[in-house]
Amino acid sequence: MEQELIYKKIAVIGCGASGGLVSLLLAKNPYNIVTSFDIKEPFSTLLPTGGGRCNITYAENDIRDFVKNYPRGEKFLLSVFSKFDQSKTRQLFKDLGIKTYVQDDKRVFPISNSSAKTIQTLKEHLKVSNFNLKKEKVIEIRQNKNNFEIKTENAIYNFDYVILAAGGRDNGFKLAKRLGHKIIETKPSLCALDIREKNFYKLSGLSFYNAIITTKINNKKIEVDGGLLFAHKFITGPAVFKISALTAYEKFNEQNPLEINVKITEYTQDEIESVIKNNTKKSIKNVFSKFTSESYISEMLSINKIDGSKQIAQLRKQEKEVLLKALFGLKLNVIKRIPDSEIVTAGGIDLNEVNSKTMESKIVKNLYCIGEILNIDGYTGGFNLQNCWSCAYICSLNFN
Ligand SMILES: Cc1cc2nc3c(=O)[nH]c(=O)nc-3n(C[C@H](O)[C@H](O)[C@H](O)COP(=O)(O)OP(=O)(O)OC[C@H]3O[C@@H](n4cnc5c(N)ncnc54)[C@H](O)[C@@H]3O)c2cc1C
Repeated sequence: MEQELIYKKIAVIGCGASGGLVSLLLAKNPYNIVTSFDIKEPFSTLLPTGGGRCNITYAENDIRDFVKNYPRGEKFLLSVFSKFDQSKTRQLFKDLGIKTYVQDDKRVFPISNSSAKTIQTLKEHLKVSNFNLKKEKVIEIRQNKNNFEIKTENAIYNFDYVILAAGGRDNGFKLAKRLGHKIIETKPSLCALDIREKNFYKLSGLSFYNAIITTKINNKKIEVDGGLLFAHKFITGPAVFKISALTAYEKFNEQNPLEINVKITEYTQDEIESVIKNNTKKSIKNVFSKFTSESYISEMLSINKIDGSKQIAQLRKQEKEVLLKALFGLKLNVIKRIPDSEIVTAGGIDLNEVNSKTMESKIVKNLYCIGEILNIDGYTGGFNLQNCWSCAYICSLNFN
């Protein structure tokens, strides 16, 4: 007797990083009938990533170290990455026709160095008869006894399974909440920050590649490292983003700023003392510019009214202290996050309500939640996309 063929009707809400990849993987199985809802083109949210180069992931093999880059979601992702980590992701991308390479800083990019080309290649895989894109915004999802009802601005559709991949910026949280999920309060993360010390904005364009920023949150000292850039009206860069991620739920403003201390030089105090000792006849400005950028030292000399043309031998004890402080502990007061500068959203669907082995909701059977809609966010460096790829892959395994 011929066996009855069972087709699975699957709706994917959102066709960005996670929704696009899961759609592509599901559509490889002809018994899956995949419909993705998105008003945007598939994968278009990848376009600005990595500055237009698509920073796909980060080449760290030890998943315990990898997950330390997620202020929220660390434990959940340990389970997720134990099944599908960055190296498997790179292999998957290679199989899909996107070879990658590792930059010196361990960030992984496609060899094309182009988000647009990456999107183009990924989209090719969606050109199959069992994938269908509906350019409609989903307004409501309802679970009936035997299926789901999806309401858009245009129509109502029925599906057996729903995958929520609506990201962190749209109404996905509302859809999840209506289905019974708890949403951890959402906040902008990876933001540029405004500081009280406006005179530093004169240094616009000045960057430090290996700054170390320390601050205190609830009396706990935190330390992060990475690039810091003074822009026209804000500070930004990987180290600043890390601070913004770790303080995503903290309140700070003009009256109650977040004090940060920045180590700007890569020299140790002993090395600096030795250079000073051996260059007593040289100018203060010349000698101190060896330890960091010249424009920064000029500004520090000007702010502190120190004559940089004097010889090092004439540098007074108090002046030396000021300059050392500028190198090892520049104090800045953060007064606000720059509106709409966030790269990701902190908060989202409570991870206690999602099975990390399958991505299935523990609240609603046959509903799956993947990507940034979950209460997961990482630092810059490819960590946010890795969350999306791994969740999408694991989710797809349920429909093999
Ligand atoms: C400027 C910028 C640069 C970035 N660079 C990097 C980087 O280099 N590396 C990195 O790892 N991460 C980066 N990120 C973060 C990364 O892009 C996101 O974390 C990732 O795209 C999230 O994927 P997602 O699938 O969860 O959601 P998204 O990719 O945001 O996709 C969600 C999709 O769902 C659709 N949608 C939402 N609601 C509905 C609805 N109701 N109905 C229909 N469709 C809906 C949206 O239109 C969207 O297309 C960057 C982000 C930004 C903003």
